[in-house]
Amino acid sequence: MNRVFENLIGGGWRGSGDAINNMNPSNPSDVVGRYAVASAADVDDAVVTARAAQHAWWALTPQDRADRLEAVAAELAARREELARQLSREEGKTLREARPEITKAAHVFRFYAGEAIRMSGEHVASIRPGIDVDVIRRPLGVVALITPWNFPLSIPAWKSAPALAYGNAVILKPSELTNASAWSLAEIVNRHLSSGVFQLAMGDGRTGAALASHAGIDGVSFTGSVATGRRIAETAPPHVRVQLEMGGKNALIVMEDADIPKAVDAAVKGAFFSTGQRCTASSRLIVHRAVKDRFLTQLVTAMSALKVGDALDESTDIGPMISQAQLDRVQDYLRIGREEGAHLRHGGERVEGKGWFMRPALFVDTGSRQRINQEEIFGPVATIIEVDDIEAAIAIANDTGFGLCAGIFTNSLGYARAFRRGIVAGMAMVNLPTVGTDYHVPFGGVRSSSYGPREKGFAAREFFTTTMTFYTAA
Ligand code: NAD
Repeated sequence: MNRVFENLIGGGWRGSGDAINNMNPSNPSDVVGRYAVASAADVDDAVVTARAAQHAWWALTPQDRADRLEAVAAELAARREELARQLSREEGKTLREARPEITKAAHVFRFYAGEAIRMSGEHVASIRPGIDVDVIRRPLGVVALITPWNFPLSIPAWKSAPALAYGNAVILKPSELTNASAWSLAEIVNRHLSSGVFQLAMGDGRTGAALASHAGIDGVSFTGSVATGRRIAETAPPHVRVQLEMGGKNALIVMEDADIPKAVDAAVKGAFFSTGQRCTASSRLIVHRAVKDRFLTQLVTAMSALKVGDALDESTDIGPMISQAQLDRVQDYLRIGREEGAHLRHGGERVEGKGWFMRPALFVDTGSRQRINQEEIFGPVATIIEVDDIEAAIAIANDTGFGLCAGIFTNSLGYARAFRRGIVAGMAMVNLPTVGTDYHVPFGGVRSSSYGPREKGFAAREFFTTTMTFYTAA
């Protein structure tokens, strides 16, 4: 393979001296593509271009911006199968999960096409006579978007679409492990927008650091690990607005009156689908002692039926881990769990094959303070913690440094209400998996999971716009 996919910088496609190979985690000898690495000088150029392009983009009518975002949505939807296959091939997500990710990206662009038109301010009566006060919304300016590998199309989409709808210029720095989806998104968006409004600067953490610490940007929206997020918060220039979406250690509570088959289905989807590589994964299953045996038996049966294999095979339930490093890290947590005294009840074995496969793993007899219940493993590993009542269930659900999402299975209004009042999380679900959220409502967490304004839906405008309070007297 000779072609190097270039960065989109300074109004055109641009190569560089350095490039990264993108490998198929189901079969690492399959090179998906070779992608140029943006240097610090490329980042400088991107910022200068973005500054110039942003004014013209904001000067368009909202209808113009909406029409262009709508065209992006239409192209994403029309190319769903091709983009889903590329996503499965580069990330290892099954086709069954990749297809909805493309659809969601299209929906997000369509939603924000409407938001471009709905963007409004507020008229307020002045406390002084003869004066009008208006609170006007304006774009933040030039925004850096730094994204992880686990949702290679939808996270860049759900950051880019609101940024563009509200009149900002975007520089996207995707994960170095999943450049293909980001490159395709850049190619599509650029075709429908004016030059320089959307730029792509690929590379590893060095490119990300050059961009996030650049004095010429106005905001940085990041999704990824807690460690990287903290570094970005420390190194961003003081005037730069920062939004961080980071890890999770999400609890799914199963009470004694729960519909057990439904709870098992939600646990399988939440803990193991996407190979457990999602921030909203239900990695801790907090189960009432009265139903623990029944829940466990059904869960193990369901886990045994999961087919682990090539992400592009339509019959696969669980694809590979993203990389050898991630597989090694997750395997190490299996050792840590055993050393802490937890019992590996099912799974965890490496699976024969070319890729980075392992069978979903379940620990039982675990304690809340063990590392496997405190640290984000980011793989197909779940733990069971037994409890005797709703108070203990909620206390343990809250017993980590994270607070992204949490769920409960119950038929009791009282339990559901206690959960609603007591749970510490940015998102909470009753009788639903913790994974799977709507795009038109706020997304984000508390504690170490998130920092800054929420993402998605109408909440996104808090980050991507700024207000000007405008006083008029005749
Ligand atoms: P990561 O932190 O390693 O990388 C994320 C991005 O930051 C990549 O593009 C990377 O190149 C870049 N980066 C690395 N060092 C940087 C630096 N010093 N300055 C600027 N950018 C830098 O995370 P990852 O491994 O790609 O993703 C997995 C993590 O993402 C998990 O912790 C997961 O929970 C989290 N995640 C969170 C959400 C959410 O919405 N809360 C969603 C998906 C994933």
